[in-house]
Amino acid sequence: MRKKYAILSEDELHEDIKIIPPNDDKIIEIADRDGNTYSVNMKELSCTCEDWETDRHNFCIGDPRRCCFHIKKAFRRNNAIEEQKPVIKAILNEYHTVRLNMLFGMLGSQPVAIFYDDESPWMDVFTEIDQNKQIGRSGFNYKEKRWAYNEEPVNGDKIASFIVNSI
Ligand SMILES: [Zn+2]
Repeated sequence: MRKKYAILSEDELHEDIKIIPPNDDKIIEIADRDGNTYSVNMKELSCTCEDWETDRHNFCIGDPRRCCFHIKKAFRRNNAIEEQKPVIKAILNEYHTVRLNMLFGMLGSQPVAIFYDDESPWMDVFTEIDQNKQIGRSGFNYKEKRWAYNEEPVNGDKIASFIVNSI
C-alpha cells in the first residue's frame, strides 16, 4: 500500500520553499504526447489531469507538490520560473513532475527541500551546493545513509541526520 504523503498548510511552509503563482487568470492548454489536452489555471495552480485531481489538489497553493507535469510545463511556457525563489527555480528546472513526498527545513538561512517516493531509496535534496549559496540537487540514499558520489551539499552531515531522524 502506498504511504500517504504529508499535507502541510500554507503557514507551515517557509517562504523559501513556497511557489508563487503567476498573478494572471490565464488558462493555458497543455497537450501531452498522447494527444490529450489539459487546462492549467496559472493563478490557482490547478490542472484537469488525473494526477492533479487524484493527489495534487490536496496541497495548498504554495506547496511545490501541487505542480503536475502540465503546470510545470505551463510555468516554462510563460517564462514564470525565473521569478521564483532559488529552491523553487531548481525544483521546476529539474523535475518533469514534482515527487509527492516532501520534507523541508531551514539550517539557519540555508533552505533544504527533500523529495522522495516509495519506489526508490534515493531522495532528491535541493539546497546550497557551494559557498556561493548556489542551489542544486543532491542525491541521498536513505537506506544506505549516504550521499551520491560527489554530490554532498553544504552541511551534508547535518542534513543527513535530519533526514535519518525524520523518516
Ligand atoms: Zn496536469
